[in-house]
Amino acid sequence: TRPGVRPPREAATHCPYCALQCGMVLRQTGERIEVAPRDFPTNRGGLCQKGWTAADLLDHPDRLTTPLLRDRPGGDLRPAGWDEALDRVGAGLREIQERHGRDAVAVFGGGGLTNEKAYALGKFARVALRTRHIDYNGRWCMSSAAAAGTRAFGLDRGLPFPLADLGRADTLLLVGANPAETMPPLMRHLADQRERGGRLIVVDPRLTATARQADLHLQPLPGTDLAVANALLHIALTEGWLDRAYVADRTTGFDEVRRTVAGCWPAEAERLSGVPVADLEATARALATVDRAIILTARGAEQHAKGVDTVTAFINLALALGLPGRPGSGYGCLTGQGNGQGGREHGQKADQLPGYRRIDDPAAREHVAAVWGVDPAELPGPGVPAYQLLDSLGTADGPRALLVFGSNPVVSAPRAARVESRLRDLDLLVVADLVRSETAELADVVLPVAQWAEEDGTMTNLEGRVLRRRALREPPPGVRTDLAVLAGLAARLQGRVPSYREMHNKGPLLTPTEAFPTDPAEVFAELRRASAGGPADYSGVSWERIDADTGVFWPCPDEGGPDTPRLFADRFPTPDGRARFRAVTHRPAAEPVCADYPLHFTTGRVLAQYQSGAQTRRVAALRRAAPGGFVELHPDLAGRLGVADGEEVRVVSRRGELRAPARLSPAIRPDTVFAPFHWPGAARANSVTNDAVDPVSGMPEFKICAVRVEKA
Ligand code: SF4
Repeated sequence: TRPGVRPPREAATHCPYCALQCGMVLRQTGERIEVAPRDFPTNRGGLCQKGWTAADLLDHPDRLTTPLLRDRPGGDLRPAGWDEALDRVGAGLREIQERHGRDAVAVFGGGGLTNEKAYALGKFARVALRTRHIDYNGRWCMSSAAAAGTRAFGLDRGLPFPLADLGRADTLLLVGANPAETMPPLMRHLADQRERGGRLIVVDPRLTATARQADLHLQPLPGTDLAVANALLHIALTEGWLDRAYVADRTTGFDEVRRTVAGCWPAEAERLSGVPVADLEATARALATVDRAIILTARGAEQHAKGVDTVTAFINLALALGLPGRPGSGYGCLTGQGNGQGGREHGQKADQLPGYRRIDDPAAREHVAAVWGVDPAELPGPGVPAYQLLDSLGTADGPRALLVFGSNPVVSAPRAARVESRLRDLDLLVVADLVRSETAELADVVLPVAQWAEEDGTMTNLEGRVLRRRALREPPPGVRTDLAVLAGLAARLQGRVPSYREMHNKGPLLTPTEAFPTDPAEVFAELRRASAGGPADYSGVSWERIDADTGVFWPCPDEGGPDTPRLFADRFPTPDGRARFRAVTHRPAAEPVCADYPLHFTTGRVLAQYQSGAQTRRVAALRRAAPGGFVELHPDLAGRLGVADGEEVRVVSRRGELRAPARLSPAIRPDTVFAPFHWPGAARANSVTNDAVDPVSGMPEFKICAVRVEKA
């Protein structure tokens, strides 16, 4: 080591972005921090461009290192000290709750927060603020698959089997999933499958990078996947491919599904979706006549006002073929956000308590209240799903204050202009973030928080595998962790926090600060107790056990006992141990095309950007790779509109418009246009999207609405 150069430090951790949670090593030499891939069962030594460049944000000039305050509406944000900022927030929250009631304050979390932060945020909302209003951006990610999985199997774990099972499947059906762009290292598992002679079938309205690798690509109209699934089941039943023994022994409710799909003729599915009957037949045969088959859905199938029923239709198909619970077979959902799985298990959802318990279940309330040291009667009841919550902000009956952690709804919410105006109507908007995101720009108080390489914690990946995130360094001066922010706020809400009784064997009464520890290991220990006995039971998961292996799969109720890489082998976690069929039928999109808005609009992602782009748009290499939004059009459609490649176009819906250069591609259907949703401003795709939501999951219909396209 040269004089003045510190020796290298290392941390074996995971990527901060998507749910694949690729293993990586962070290495600091002097001021320089390098990323190297780490062999891990999910990524097997691979990283995508986002992972390789993840450290670029750590010392980025846009990084916030001091709180910001706005002194008057319309004024500028100015730097402030932590005490001033937290005092302002504490006083503001107290005043608003005193004047308008407890539910006048709302909390909005994120699917990228660690398990510890997600848990602490849910507890903070219910114990320190005593508001029922908490939800998070994961509602817009996999809530439809979660609701459908819970309805059918009694449990929601994205993949109920390890990722390596994909490589063992004889047939793999991907519905609305594009992992070649969203999580590229996952394609190594698909390559295994191909090398073993397996078949890959992709259902997507676009010929995506994943679809190009498929043996068969079904290209349905957006919003018709449910009709496709029912037609596949119709064909399987007609051909006699039903697994009768499995259906008889392990399921209930099949007869009604049989009656329903008897009328779901493949020719009708072709008329609705545009997928030829011959392709439907080939798909059904490929799934039903092999030993092992896996069906996976992702956002393309799920982000609809009928997302829960669409996923249910694919689960019905998997159950009828006897797939769930067998190695190398089954149904799963590819969760998107880094902690999309754990983020929904520990109490950030409006209707749930830690351990994936229902908040309206008296036994669950009793258990969690005992861990928190509060009276169960003091715990608020269920709140409302994310979009409904944001759409109520600042209205006569809605919350007057919002705390945002780890989310950027100004870019990621549907009907984003309306959400933006609701945020502007608030009396107090507080945003905890790394950078001045588009949502932070509207805030009254911005609190700079630590990044992934600056704090310990756990994440739960798309397989339900609990992983360790390990800190490489301390947060820079002026920056605090989210846990420290919650502790600081809890201290300022003193007097409003209900009585803390014997918790953690620390004595009869705890101060609010003690109830919100800043040490993530202490929070995880409490999370384990809160989750004990629930569907997502972490009580046997310790950091030491994670460190000793490649993570721990929940449920894991006993520290000395096994974890659960593969679910449903013998029984389903329903009262009678059987999976539940449910009859579902196709219905049109919430907003049909018409003369004024004759085209279908759908949204999605690109390889080099992540979610709202607040982080990845700031990374130079990613910005070079994907510098801005675009509108993908089929050349035939472009020809009819007189639009040339690269020419700016307007995409107009009933809710707003986006402007971006046209990108001509034969990969998309001529009746559909596509835009990625990572960019703000004129190119904001969510200015256009529909805020119709699924009645069960609250998932907005991001994937289809009616638009017209004009030259700008
Ligand atoms: Fe892996 Fe996802 Fe990170 Fe890419 S973004 S390196 S696929 S975890």
